[in-house]
Amino acid sequence: MNGNSATQKKKIKIAIDGPSGSGKSTIGRMLASHLGYIYIDSGAMYRALALYLHRNNIPFKDTEKIIELLPDVNIKIENRDGISLIILNGENVSSQIREPIISQGASIVSTIPEVRRFMVKLQREMGKEGGIVMDGRDIGTVVFPDAELKIYLDASIMARANRRFLELTQKGIKTSFEEVKEELEIRDKRDKNREDSPLKRAEDAVYIDTSALSIEEVFEKILKEVKRVLN
Ligand code: C5P
Repeated sequence: MNGNSATQKKKIKIAIDGPSGSGKSTIGRMLASHLGYIYIDSGAMYRALALYLHRNNIPFKDTEKIIELLPDVNIKIENRDGISLIILNGENVSSQIREPIISQGASIVSTIPEVRRFMVKLQREMGKEGGIVMDGRDIGTVVFPDAELKIYLDASIMARANRRFLELTQKGIKTSFEEVKEELEIRDKRDKNREDSPLKRAEDAVYIDTSALSIEEVFEKILKEVKRVLN
C-alpha cells in the first residue's frame, strides 16, 4: 500500500480500544507500520506512572500523594527503528512496565480522574497531526472522539488469558495460567466499572471478536475498514 494509494494522502487517527489481551497492541503496531503512522500504546503510559510510584514506595491507592507527584513524572514515547519505547524521566522502562504488579498498579491509578486528565492531555498532543494509531480503553470515547476510524477489539477470557500467559512466559516472567486469568478478570472489572472513562465500545466503533481469528485475519478486516474510510 505504501507509495501510491489514497492512504498516502490523508493522515487519519485510528482508535483501538478493548480489554487486555484482545490483540490491540499487536494489531496497532502492525497497522501503524503498514501505514507509516505513529503507534502509541496508551496503556504503557499508565504503566510508566505505576512503575514510578512502585519504585518510590507510594501505594497505588494514595490518590492525594499521586496527584501531588504528577508534575514530577515525565512520560514520553519514542519510536526507534519501528519499535516503540516508553521513556520515564529519561529512562527506557519498556520491559519493566510489563511486570504483573505494574499491570495491577496501572489499572488502579487509572481510576483517578486527575491522572486520566494528565494522560489524555499528552495523548491528544501526540495525535494532533493525525497519522496515528493509538490503543487503550478510552481512545475512541474520550481521547479522540473525532477519530476517523474506531475499532473495538474483544475476545473471550480464555483466549485473552492464553495469549497473555504466552506473552509473559516468552518474556521470562514467571507466572501461571490461573494467575494470569485472575489478574485479567480483576482488571477487566475495574476498567469497565470505574466512574471516569470506563472501558466501553464507542457507538461508532467497528466491533471485532478476535477469539477465533488469527492476527492476520484481524489485520485484514481492519485494513478493509481503513480503506473504506480513506476512500
Ligand atoms: O493496555 P494495558 O493493559 O497495558 O493497560 C494497563 C492498564 O492501564 C489497564 O488495565 C487500564 O486500567 C489502564 N488504561 C486506561 N486507559 C487507557 C489505557 C490503559 O485506563 N487508555
